[in-house]
Amino acid sequence: EPERPDTRARAEIDLGALRANVRALRARVAPGGAGLMGVVKADAYGHGAVPCARAALQAGAAWLGTATPYEALALRAAGIDAPVLCWLWTPGGPFRAAIEADVDITVSGLWALDEVTAAARAAGRTARVQLKADTGLGRNGCLAADWPRLVGEALRAQADGLVRVTGLWSHFACADEPGHPSVGAQLARFHDMLEHAEKAGVTPEVRHMANSPATLTLPESHFDLVRTGVAMYGISPGPEIGTPADFGLRPVMRLSASVASVKQAPAGLGVSYGHHHVTDAETTLALVPLGYADGVPRHASGRGPVLLGGAVRTVAGRVAMDQFVLDLGGDTVEPGERAVLFGPGDDGEPTAEDWARAAGTIAYEIVTRVGARVPRVHL
Ligand code: PLP
Repeated sequence: EPERPDTRARAEIDLGALRANVRALRARVAPGGAGLMGVVKADAYGHGAVPCARAALQAGAAWLGTATPYEALALRAAGIDAPVLCWLWTPGGPFRAAIEADVDITVSGLWALDEVTAAARAAGRTARVQLKADTGLGRNGCLAADWPRLVGEALRAQADGLVRVTGLWSHFACADEPGHPSVGAQLARFHDMLEHAEKAGVTPEVRHMANSPATLTLPESHFDLVRTGVAMYGISPGPEIGTPADFGLRPVMRLSASVASVKQAPAGLGVSYGHHHVTDAETTLALVPLGYADGVPRHASGRGPVLLGGAVRTVAGRVAMDQFVLDLGGDTVEPGERAVLFGPGDDGEPTAEDWARAAGTIAYEIVTRVGARVPRVHL
């Protein structure tokens, strides 16, 4: 098969920027000594899990984190042997494979502890287990009322040689809203739950709680490890935290496409499904071959910003599955010219945060949803 390069669109991933971001984040947690877990779930927020994991480790990340065990096992299959934690398990999940691959398994409740101990017994190995506390996120994790029982059962399994409790951890609900009363309340509850577990005899290697916003704004939440995702990709966790540049972070992904057609259109032409844009004068229309199947949010129809031909234009009419249109007014471009949807911003292109605003969502979703059809080009 001769190689057929995809000339339509690409997401360039600047691994140098990712490494620099990891170093900037590490500098923020030093000299207290907290390590950094590079969160590479969801294909590294759309940036490519394996290359991003390798780059993060090169820049000094001590751990990797994934949501599902399948993501963790894929890192192992690629030959990555750094410590990995995964946290989203379902009954019947690949417990034995995770134990044999030395992946740390998060346990939030008794069903998972039962499955881990059974798998450890079958494998003849000790499972590395991290207990997750629900200190107020109200999502996964063990609530304070159930914590003594879970800790007690885990210690019994540890005494039997089936598990080793390597970590105790929790996750914030509102760390992207500095000053929100839940932040301090969650920290206080985590301290209580840590104290209980450690008095009962747990000797964790790592205790951790901070995501990107807490890493950037709340040093007292750093403990032994910070779990940074979005900041590592050079994206702000939210408008209340600040811009990436405020923290010396640089966006890693640049999404662009090659203009597929350019045509002169008369006044009064309805553009794209539903005719939500109608040309108001004779104009030039450029077709950009990216659509909602590629992760361009349909909610940004009529609003999404795109750099083309030296100016930022706005999506004209609806974003379709594979394409959208830009109305260039008096300007023109050639087919094949590059339209940049988002990037670091220093060539005048919009950022993922700009697209998030246009689509009424968060920048996390903009990068994570870039579709599998768009080649990732790692630089
Ligand atoms: N820790 C856990 C448990 C998560 O689910 C996530 C992602 O949502 C993170 C850390 C990283 O969060 P952020 O991308 O805000 O750094």
